[in-house]
Amino acid sequence: MSRPRFDDIFMELAVNLAKRSHCIKAQVGAVLTRDTRIISIGYNGPPAGTHNCDDEFPGVGCPRDSKGSCSLALHAEENAILYAAKNGSEIEGATIYVTLSPCIACARIIYSMKIAHVIYLHSYAEYKGIGSDEGVDFLRRFGVKVDRYVPSDGFVLHSEPPIPRKAALPTVP
Ligand SMILES: [Zn+2]
Ligand SMILES: [Zn+2]
Repeated sequence: MSRPRFDDIFMELAVNLAKRSHCIKAQVGAVLTRDTRIISIGYNGPPAGTHNCDDEFPGVGCPRDSKGSCSLALHAEENAILYAAKNGSEIEGATIYVTLSPCIACARIIYSMKIAHVIYLHSYAEYKGIGSDEGVDFLRRFGVKVDRYVPSDGFVLHSEPPIPRKAALPTVP
């Protein structure tokens, strides 16, 4: 068996972090790294001490925003970046691993924080059934490197698509 790359290790961690999310709409995990060291982690959910979507809105799901996402949640990238910023970690030049490609709002934050590289597992556009990954397009346009994760030969990522845990979303053709 070959040695896993850091890409494999960090993406697997992001996938496991996603499973901690209380959100009903989607579960997303993120790992923020610099020089192959982890500086922060995050998963999507309302700010600590506020709501637990799955407890408060069982079955019906959390209140949606105009794009059908949880209106209460910070995204995984936001949580990872906020924690690093709050603790004074150096974020410029970092790499972020995320299980779902960044939405446009997160893309703006990633760009503003001068994160150099985004590696994502699932496509937000595919998940939402929309034509283009606007977050990815924005980041690439303004010089942030974005790659879709590809497992190393022989490495099996135990990944699940970012689907709801309890409520079914309409299937994307
Ligand atoms: Zn929610
Ligand atoms: Zn986002």
